[in-house]
Amino acid sequence: LTIANVAPHSALRARPAVVADLHTHTTYSDGRLPPAELVAAAAAARLPALAVTDHDVVSGLAEALDAGARLGVEVLPGIELSAHWDGRVCHILGYAFTLGNPALDAALAAASARARAATARGLELLRARGHALTAEDLDRYRARYRTPTMLLLAMVQRRLLRSRDDLRTLLLALRGGAPSWTAAEAIALIHRAGGVAVLAHPGRRGRRGPFPAATIAALAARGLDGIEVYHPAHADDLATAYADLAAELGLLTTGGSDWHGRAHDPALGSLGVDAHQFAALRARARTRAGAPTNPTS
Ligand SMILES: [Zn+2]
Ligand SMILES: [Zn+2]
Repeated sequence: LTIANVAPHSALRARPAVVADLHTHTTYSDGRLPPAELVAAAAAARLPALAVTDHDVVSGLAEALDAGARLGVEVLPGIELSAHWDGRVCHILGYAFTLGNPALDAALAAASARARAATARGLELLRARGHALTAEDLDRYRARYRTPTMLLLAMVQRRLLRSRDDLRTLLLALRGGAPSWTAAEAIALIHRAGGVAVLAHPGRRGRRGPFPAATIAALAARGLDGIEVYHPAHADDLATAYADLAAELGLLTTGGSDWHGRAHDPALGSLGVDAHQFAALRARARTRAGAPTNPTS
């Protein structure tokens, strides 16, 4: 992706007000607040709507929807699926899908079982090396760190891993436990549940730099619905370039603060979509929910 000059029609210039923050996390993945408290924070910030997009789980959505109904905040069901594409880590956001979809639930349950098995394998390896890392140690983090990578980060943070060798051992064991969807599979899963699939933070710093236009075009050909243009990792010029690319490919533009409730996070609702973008997303979801999906898409 070549970063275009900031055009006079810049996507960011004189942007209308944010009505929905479409990227937030709760204690069901690596966020700091339980779903009800996240929704209460949105209500306190006078944010009309938000999507709860925990990593690889939908378990927090019922609580969030319930709180939204109570507090007058529109809560959009969401998820952030861990996938890969073309040798890159690739996060796919899903929006407005139907809760209780058997295919999506089964895929998430399988991923969660794989993660648990990998964690157990890692513990066993560490025990064989003489470390007293127990199930209780893990339970202290389980509520906040549901996926192996997060669990590992928590353990490093708390100095439960004593050496590089321990780290390598555990990493090897956990590697097999990470979700292994391709981005195309993640998109298909979200579509099958009647949802809208969006490429998360394509400009986030990674080993291979921002997602290039050709890669995003390939994902669009596999059914991708939108690009997350507004994200804390995107400088204005990058956001503008991705907005232009979305227009070129006929994709929706979305955004959010990727709020985890950490001290350095931007304010909840400081990034998101305006009323027009939110309406376009919901319109796409309505067409998807009504249409039978192509199982090979
Ligand atoms: Zn992400
Ligand atoms: Zn996120």
